[in-house]
Amino acid sequence: MSPAQLQCIEPDCNARFETSSRLYTCARCGGLLDVVYDLESILAPQLVDEWDRRFGSFQAIDRSGVWRFRELLPEAAPDEIVSMAEGNTPILDAPSCARYAGMNRLAFKHLGFNPTGSFKDLGMTTGVTQARRLGATRVACASTGNTSASMAAYAARAGMKAFVFIPSGQIALGKLAQALDYGATVLQLDGDFDAAMRLVREVTSDSDLYLLNSVNPFRLEGQKTIAFELLQQRRWRTPDRIVAPGGNLGNSSAIAKGLKELLEAGAIPRMPRLTIVQAEGANPLYRMWTEQADRLTPLEHASTLATAIKIGAPVSWRKAQRGLEWSGGDVEQVGESEIADAKAMIGRDGIGCEPASAVTLAGIKKMVEAGRIDKDEDVVAILTGHALKDPDYTINYHRGELAFTDSAGTTRLLPAAFASPMIRVAPDRDAILAALE
Ligand SMILES: *Cc1c(COP(=O)(O)O)cnc(C)c1O
Ligand SMILES: [Zn+2]
Repeated sequence: MSPAQLQCIEPDCNARFETSSRLYTCARCGGLLDVVYDLESILAPQLVDEWDRRFGSFQAIDRSGVWRFRELLPEAAPDEIVSMAEGNTPILDAPSCARYAGMNRLAFKHLGFNPTGSFKDLGMTTGVTQARRLGATRVACASTGNTSASMAAYAARAGMKAFVFIPSGQIALGKLAQALDYGATVLQLDGDFDAAMRLVREVTSDSDLYLLNSVNPFRLEGQKTIAFELLQQRRWRTPDRIVAPGGNLGNSSAIAKGLKELLEAGAIPRMPRLTIVQAEGANPLYRMWTEQADRLTPLEHASTLATAIKIGAPVSWRKAQRGLEWSGGDVEQVGESEIADAKAMIGRDGIGCEPASAVTLAGIKKMVEAGRIDKDEDVVAILTGHALKDPDYTINYHRGELAFTDSAGTTRLLPAAFASPMIRVAPDRDAILAALE
């Protein structure tokens, strides 16, 4: 592990701070912070060999898909690390999805295979470890669901008290159930995620509560290992493109940072193009990108059934913008029906995911049709959460009852092109045989 520092990402500031200071944003200008390392002292060939060697290790720290890469993580002593063998998530071929999108091949890296079923665990192992290093005993976050489930689990492992701020009635039931089971105190607030986010930042700025949203740069350090593990699994063969959903934009930013560090350490020869996909009703980055604006304008009201990305004022937009520049990236948006059908198609490959993850496939399909992705490209899409996170959405889709209310207040039923049959049958042999025809 390297002696790391915090550095403001604003080019005209770049102020540096010690990692032992309890800062979420720059003390000088309020900008977002990066954890930075002395990359020149890190030599890629030895590093990559060492990382590969750890696959055969029985040490818990080596078997974590995050801490395996500890040379590029903030320093922590073994007894300070709060880990649950997170990471180690598979890359799965998806032939039906490839055909659906018009690609020759397509693969998903499925982060729903993590301990609490989403990529948030990668950020919580480093975030809660940092909380412990700072002596925090109480942690807090605002959440669309998965952050709270994950923080509650890792806080429980660390013996800390967890407080989660959620928009009342707007998170998937599976996620709320997890947070409760892991012993968190759940504060249900009227208003949306963006309001809950504002409130938790206010409350944590003047109390002992340690903030574990992705504005906290230690979260993103864990999440950047998505890029490390993805490349390692591919024997360091760089894909042409990595496609990820965009909500608060922490995860896509973290992936970009991980790729840039691999490039600078000499572990990969070029950056894959980062492609971020948003829901049409929660698309502030897409707007900024297509309007070629240099600042993001938050949306007043975000609306999408993919609750994990229902965010109008993404905290990490500046880091996402930087990641798109570094990698020659791109941004797409997709509609609710496209998301719902893509999710069902991901199920048809035996993979499955939660709604927010399915924007990747929907976005790829749309970009192939528009000629923005070539059918021969080597593309890996990031599935962010497990299918069981939001069973209501799935059941409603297959029943043909999935209804979406847009920000203008208009409700419509989404067509379900890939609904699976659910048939009521009398408990009788002949009736069953007839139904099987
Ligand atoms: C948190 C989350 C996202 C969005 O990630 P951001 O870092 O907020 O952009 C997407 N999908 C799932 C399942 C999530 O939990
Ligand atoms: Zn600054």
